[in-house]
Amino acid sequence: MKHMQRKVGFVSLGCPKALVDSEQIITQLRAEGYAIGASYDDADLVVINTCGFIESAIDESLEAIGDALGQNGKVIVTGCLGAKGDIVKTTYPNVLAVTGPHALQEVMEAVHAHLPPAHDPYTSLIPPQGIKLTPQHYAYLKISEGCNHRCSFCIIPALRGDLVSRPVNEVLQEAQNLVTAGVKELLVISQDTSAYGVDTKYKTAFWNGRPVKTRFQELVSMLSEFDAWIRLHYVYPYPHVDDVIPLMAQGKLLPYLDIPFQHASPAILKAMKRPASSENVLERLTRWRDICPDIAIRSTFIVGFPGETEREFEELLDFLEAAQLDRVGCFKYSPVEGARANALPDPVDDDTKQERLDLFMQVQENISRNKLLQKVGRQLTVLVDEVNEHGILARSRYDAPEVDGMVIIEDDIEAKSGDWLRVRVIDSTEHDLYAEVIE
Ligand code: SF4
Repeated sequence: MKHMQRKVGFVSLGCPKALVDSEQIITQLRAEGYAIGASYDDADLVVINTCGFIESAIDESLEAIGDALGQNGKVIVTGCLGAKGDIVKTTYPNVLAVTGPHALQEVMEAVHAHLPPAHDPYTSLIPPQGIKLTPQHYAYLKISEGCNHRCSFCIIPALRGDLVSRPVNEVLQEAQNLVTAGVKELLVISQDTSAYGVDTKYKTAFWNGRPVKTRFQELVSMLSEFDAWIRLHYVYPYPHVDDVIPLMAQGKLLPYLDIPFQHASPAILKAMKRPASSENVLERLTRWRDICPDIAIRSTFIVGFPGETEREFEELLDFLEAAQLDRVGCFKYSPVEGARANALPDPVDDDTKQERLDLFMQVQENISRNKLLQKVGRQLTVLVDEVNEHGILARSRYDAPEVDGMVIIEDDIEAKSGDWLRVRVIDSTEHDLYAEVIE
C-alpha cells in the first residue's frame, strides 16, 4: 500500500507533570494521524519522555533510551533528563533529537523531520499548515480511530480499519489533563465524531466516580462542563446530533459544527457513498438555527467528482445558496490510489473542474462576505493565536484555528497568544473580521 500509517512508540517515565507533557504529545501525534504503540520493535520511531529527578530515575531513563536504540534505532528524547546538559547525547550520540520538558513543538518538529506525516486533503483531520505550529493554548482531542463508512473516494477504512472508539474515561482524562495544563480550546476530532461509541455498543465507563456511556451525546455533554472552549469537528448530520445543539444555545459548547458535506446532489452523494446522505440537511440546519441562532456551520466540498454534470453542479450551488454556511472549503476531485471512485465512469476534465471550483468559491465568498458584514458592531470574546506585524490575530467562537478566518486587532496593546480579549467588530472582509479592544 502506498502510505501505511506511521507508528510512534511512546514511553512515559516520571511524575504527573511529565505525564501531562506525554498526553499533549500523544494527543498531537494522534491528531496528525500517527498510531501510538507501546513496544519498540513494531514502531517506526520511539519517543521517550524522561525523568531526571533522582539518580535512579536518571538510570531508568538512560536504560530505556538504550533499550529503544537497541530494539528500534530511531529515538527522540524529551523531558527532564533532556534538560540536564549533555548527558543523553554523551551517553548515546545517535539519538535523533533531545529536548527538555514542555517541548511539544520541538518534539513534533523532530518527529516530522524523521517520520513525515502523510497528508491527504480529503481525509486528514487537521490541515498541513496546522502541523507545523500548534500553539499550546489549543489542542486536538482525537476520540476514535478508523471509520465504518466506505466513501468511494477514501482509503482511510482500508488503511486504518473500522471505527475503534477510545474509552470515554480515557478521552475525558486526556481532556482534563490538557485543560489543567493550560489548554483553552479543545478541538474534538475523529473520522466520524457523531458515530463515537457505536463500536463499543455505547459501553459504560466510570470517570470521577460517575458512570458515563461511550457515546457522542454523553461525551459532548461531559466535555461541555470543562472550563474550555469545546469545538466539534467531523460531525455528520444524524438526528442524534440535535441533542447537543441546546448545549450550544446555553453557551456550554461552542456554537460551531464542522460537517463535511462534500456534495449536495443526491446522485453524487450516492456515488460517493457518503454517510447521512439521505438526511434532509436543509431542514435540519433550519431546526438547529431555531434552537441556536448564531451556530456557525463549517463544511468542505468536492467538485468535479466522476459523473458530476452541469445539473449536479447546479444542485450543489443551489444548496450553497440555500444553506448559507459560514465557512466553506472546496477541493477539485482527484483520484487517490486504491479508492473505488477511480473506477467510476464519466470523469470530469481538469478545465471544467477548475471552472467549477472558481464559480463555487465566488458564490461562497459572497455568502461569507454578507454573513461577516452582519457581525460588524457586535461585541465578541476572542482568543489570541498570534501577535505579529499585522497586529493581534485572534479567533472568536465561530472560527476554528488554521481553517477559518480570523479576528484581526490592530490596536497597539500588549497581548500574547492564549490571551482572551473582549472586542467590538469594526469592519469585515469576505474571510476576516477587524475589531478593536473594549476591555
Ligand atoms: S466518513 Fe468517508 S471520507 Fe470520512 S473517513 Fe470514513 S470513509 Fe473516509
